[in-house]
Amino acid sequence: MGNIYELEHVYKTYRNDGKEFTALKDVSLSVEEGEIFGIIGMSGAGKSTLVRTLNRLEEVSDGKVLYYGKDLAELKASELRKVRHSISMIFQGFNLLLQRTVIENVEEPLRIAGVPRKKRKEKAREMLKIVGLEEKETVYPARLSGGQKQRVAIARALAADPKVLLCDEATSALDPKITGEILELLKRINEERKITIIIITHEMSVVEKICDRVAIIENGVLAEVGNVREVFSSPKSDAAKKLVFPSNPFEPTNTESRLIRIVFDGTRASEPFIANLVEKTGKKVSIISANTRSVGGIGYGQMVLELPDNEGDQESIIEFFSKSGLVVSEVTKYE
Ligand code: ADP
Repeated sequence: MGNIYELEHVYKTYRNDGKEFTALKDVSLSVEEGEIFGIIGMSGAGKSTLVRTLNRLEEVSDGKVLYYGKDLAELKASELRKVRHSISMIFQGFNLLLQRTVIENVEEPLRIAGVPRKKRKEKAREMLKIVGLEEKETVYPARLSGGQKQRVAIARALAADPKVLLCDEATSALDPKITGEILELLKRINEERKITIIIITHEMSVVEKICDRVAIIENGVLAEVGNVREVFSSPKSDAAKKLVFPSNPFEPTNTESRLIRIVFDGTRASEPFIANLVEKTGKKVSIISANTRSVGGIGYGQMVLELPDNEGDQESIIEFFSKSGLVVSEVTKYE
């Protein structure tokens, strides 16, 4: 499948009262049709700005946003309207119309598009069924829980039969259990309806759970982009390392010793790496910390180890782990 989006050297500079602020700097990336693409970064990194360039809610200051190969900036008003109809969005705050019932909310984009009443009711009912809220048709949003409100927003987003669904911190206001349910729903929608999904989040767990690929953005700059498993098992940029590995509170006990991190995937979690090291090389290490996490349903483990003082020993231990197929990296302090 081809690319739904291609961003080429995108810059965005805000100008207010003579002050300038560049929120996106030279961002280039592509999103493949059918994938779930995550954009992660800390607050203020530029994620919302980036997502708003994807439907031209935000004009770029330089560079191009291509949607199915077409430069969004070049579209005529009528073309832009059509394109926007194929791009749905959901938000952290749900953005439901509070004076309208659930089904009226779902009908809204169809009403705007001029779909006749009977047809749009039918469509809205179908969408409510997908999100599991067919019983709530006549209820007003105030009577719904946060998770239910987001389901209504998702039904409304789907009603337009979009090609892509943009999710801007869509689960940030929800507790972990409800977040999990909404993410499962999004995954099912992606698989069954072949809708490309772009998820903006500051939460690692969201990306780990459902994204195929992820872009890490820091201070308006794209720090890293790649397959979620690769980025999370061997992050290359400092921004990615900061997100993936909690900052390490330990320091080597003396100036000669060294700390390394080994990362292994869950299929090998039962292998006794440390015991093997001792058996094969006679060298010992101290385990400083260890933990596991799940990325796309696959467990990953990581350990921070302190190596002995001798440089030759350090090299042979690192070589042993590398040859065993583990990702080995030096632990540096990130903060
Ligand atoms: P994120 O979504 O990652 O939290 P945003 O894209 O909302 O980040 O914001 C990125 C940066 O751009 C922030 O420093 C923010 O203050 C600034 N910014 C966002 N919108 C505007 C605006 N309309 N005018 C000026 N600065 C803005």
